[in-house]
Order: sequence, then structure tokens, then C-alpha cells
Amino acid sequence: MHEWALAESVIKSSIAAAEKENLKKITEINIRLGELQQIANDIFKFALNELVETYSDKFQDVKINIETEETELQCKQCNHTWQFKDMKNKLSADEAEAIHFIPEVAFVHTRCPKCGSPDFLIVKGRGVSVSSIKGIKE
Ligand SMILES: [Zn+2]
Repeated sequence: MHEWALAESVIKSSIAAAEKENLKKITEINIRLGELQQIANDIFKFALNELVETYSDKFQDVKINIETEETELQCKQCNHTWQFKDMKNKLSADEAEAIHFIPEVAFVHTRCPKCGSPDFLIVKGRGVSVSSIKGIKE
């Protein structure tokens, strides 16, 4: 049900954005999907397509693009920012895999590469958002 809730929020925010821009029909939705977001892509895509059918008066041959947002971390101590992919190189394959599927594990294995602090924030790479939409005005 998680995927359905996310898909619904994507569709609803797209419709809201289209109304704001006076677009009659949405023709393209660009979605940013966080690398650490745990989601079943096939269910998510299926849910999006089903919801497009549900609100078919708002869409016209809509193209849905999903791009992956790379994870970015920020140290709370020294404000250094780094990317998850830099960190992945330093981990064993097993750890990298575990982190990919269980984001919380990232907190256990990760230290700031600059000052060594284990206290950091995940600033990018979580969640799902609509980065842009295209549509037609009538
Ligand atoms: Zn640091």
C-alpha cells in the first residue's frame, strides 16, 4: 500500500500544479525518486498508471519519467557534505547492499569522511517528489 500512497501523492501534486499553471491536460510528469527510498518500482509504476486512468480527464498520453536522486549526507559537526556513492566504495559489497535496502543501516556504518563524526543528516536521497510537469493549455 506504501507504493499506492506515494503514487497518489505524485498524481495529486501533479494535478494541483497543473491547475495552478492553468494546464488543461498533463502530458509529462518527471519524478525524483530517492536512492534510499524503499519502494517496489513495478508496483509504483502500476499504481501511477492506474491513477492516471482514474483521473483520465486531467491527462493526455502522459509520459512518466522517474529519475533517481543520489543520496547526499551532511555532517552535523563540520557541515561537510558527501555522497552515498563515495561511501559505497569504502564498504564491502555486503554492507553496500544492506544499506541500499535498509537505509537505517547507513547510520551504523557511516562516519563523516572529513572529521570522523558519526553524527550526520541524510539531506538527499529519501522520498519521492515531482520535479516538474508538462502540459497543454487550451
Ligand atoms: Zn564532519
